[in-house]
Amino acid sequence: MKPTYARVIIDRAIHRELDYLVPDGFADRVDIGWRVRVPFRDKSALATVVAIPEQTEATGLRAIEAIVGEKAALNPKLIELARWMSAYYCCSIETVMRSLLPQVIRRGEVSWKKQLFVRATRIIAEEEVEKLRKRAPRQADLLHAVSQLTAPIPAADLLRQTSLDNQTLRALQKRGLVELREEAVARDPHADEQFVATTNLVLNVEQAVALTALEEALANPGTAKPLLLHGVTGSGKTEIYLQAIRSALARGKTAIVLVPEISLTPQTVERFKSRFAETEDMVAVLHSRLSEGERHDEWHKIRSGRARIVIGARSAVFAPLESLGLIVVDEEHETSYKQEEAPRYHARDLAVVRGKLENCVVLLGTATPSLESYFNAKRGKYRLLNLTLRVDDNQMPLMRIVDLRQEKRKAKSLTILGEKLHSAMIDRLEKREQTILFLNRRGFSTSLLCSACGEARDCPNCSVALTFHRTASRLSCHLCGHTAAVPKKCPACGEDALIYSGFGTEKVEANVQQLFPKAVVRRMDADSMTRKDAYRETLRAFRAGKIDILVGTQMIAKGLHFPNVTLVGIINADLALHLPDFRAGERTFQLLTQVAGRAGRGEIAGEVFVQTFTPFSPSIQFARHHDFAGYFEQELEFRERCDFPPFRHAVLITVRSAHEARAKFSAETLARRLREALPDEFILGEPSPAPLEKLQGQFRFHILMRGEAIVRLSRLVRETLDKLPLPEDVVASVDVDPYQLL
Ligand SMILES: [Zn+2]
Ligand SMILES: [Zn+2]
Repeated sequence: MKPTYARVIIDRAIHRELDYLVPDGFADRVDIGWRVRVPFRDKSALATVVAIPEQTEATGLRAIEAIVGEKAALNPKLIELARWMSAYYCCSIETVMRSLLPQVIRRGEVSWKKQLFVRATRIIAEEEVEKLRKRAPRQADLLHAVSQLTAPIPAADLLRQTSLDNQTLRALQKRGLVELREEAVARDPHADEQFVATTNLVLNVEQAVALTALEEALANPGTAKPLLLHGVTGSGKTEIYLQAIRSALARGKTAIVLVPEISLTPQTVERFKSRFAETEDMVAVLHSRLSEGERHDEWHKIRSGRARIVIGARSAVFAPLESLGLIVVDEEHETSYKQEEAPRYHARDLAVVRGKLENCVVLLGTATPSLESYFNAKRGKYRLLNLTLRVDDNQMPLMRIVDLRQEKRKAKSLTILGEKLHSAMIDRLEKREQTILFLNRRGFSTSLLCSACGEARDCPNCSVALTFHRTASRLSCHLCGHTAAVPKKCPACGEDALIYSGFGTEKVEANVQQLFPKAVVRRMDADSMTRKDAYRETLRAFRAGKIDILVGTQMIAKGLHFPNVTLVGIINADLALHLPDFRAGERTFQLLTQVAGRAGRGEIAGEVFVQTFTPFSPSIQFARHHDFAGYFEQELEFRERCDFPPFRHAVLITVRSAHEARAKFSAETLARRLREALPDEFILGEPSPAPLEKLQGQFRFHILMRGEAIVRLSRLVRETLDKLPLPEDVVASVDVDPYQLL
């Protein structure tokens, strides 16, 4: 039956779905998921069809103006997922739709790149070339080059290779000897790389058991639980992903692999592209560093069904694949899967929901499961698979805890490298083995204080100190990006009494270079990696052994594999531990385990030094003994006692304004209304200033709620907010399952 009406969501926040008439001419194409252009008020707007109702209560219907694209942009399952997100994450459906469709696809302004291709119109004899040479030698040169081609090539490439110009080419075209044709070409970010096909590696017993479990799930996707693959670093999880994907493809299915943005390195992409290199365009890549054109091309490659595997960061969970068979979430514990602006979704959780909607297998892989996932496995919602052995039987590195309190007493000042770490580094340099030093803080000095009047240089927009960057010779705020010149004298009292204190990676690098003048030291953090290829170049040099000591932030903590690294130094393990966040311990445990996993992945056993002021904190002690189960048990006990996730869901409302009093008043009013609206089963906290009270010029207040029935809580919060008109300069945002509590 031909559709009479179409229900659409317009690309604007009007918080309503609208019905339109379907003109006869479009009736065979308008369906759920199609993009359309519709009249809206006195303009026209782009929209997505979300339903085909048989009847409508709306009156005075207008007709759809145009259809956009050659195919539905989204399948009905993705629209179902959008509705789920809207209800769960307490945000409007329009906001959700913005995440589902990349802007470049929504706007439809970018299209395929066209390139001019050259080929000969017929076989050209050498005599013909020579005849032409007498009159037009340059045309003859070009004609000779064209006569040698086995396939059409881009005109630009031909002219560059022959150092000839466009005029010469056009002259040959006029003579009817060559043909020029425009063809669409993909803007492939990996076009200049060669991928050599690789074959399956032999699995060890544990890996084989895990793969069998996956095969079983792929055979019965309707009844399979999500699988949690807990494998120590270096245990060969990626090989299992690759073989499971192969299996899904063999069943005629497609696959998504989610990887944290920071781990989506050329090395990772290469591993997937190479394994499936036998089919061109089999693997599409989606991440935030793509140009608009590249994103357009990769998206269409997926939508058209040419690409059957998508590897990407967070938003790749929305990849518009058909017959989805497998979603892999690598490093599922990573907090970067959580989007920090609306819609504030968690890609791992969405993967599980999408898996359920599409009857597809979901595999969560990690060396340090999140407490949420571990808890789900423990109570039988997920199936747990363990990999306890490192491939090639490498030993887990030896972890040594260095008590910085003692080091400080000995050195009588703040030390960057304790005595033990220092001598271990000397040892490695002698043996020509490599060292990684890790510190999760950028910059040179982390604060600038006046010893005369006590004034600190704080960011004018945020309640944090400015960090001194020596290379740039500026002070900068790591939260809002504000930068300032370094004052010679204290701006407050005019005394020449400024003291730099605290240190970041830039100072570690300088300090290490000073201690080891002959060693090659490099730094890898957001400041030193601003050039596009810097990351790749540094990693290549490190792998080739041209760098002795690599200093870096979490950029170097993830999934990188360097066989010659036998020493890892964690300069200060306490940085995360003292944040006012119930996940602080979990993050420290994960970080230590991840960073430690960088050591000893070759033949030689690794050694890890963990420098800390709190050597007896549980997250450090359990990490030291590689005791995951022990850590989880004690952390779960703590979470249960405090009604924190994973035992309760949390919802965080942030009320902010440039005017402190107004933000405070609005937060208090809102909390009062919530107290009236929420039944007793929900725990409602008092409104209070956020730990980071001022951010980007805005004063911030928090209201934290907890409860089990999250969709219900979400709805009550939405209704309360809708009924409470906030002053114009006050904004309230809702974060369901928040990860940022500052
Ligand atoms: Zn001063
Ligand atoms: Zn700032």
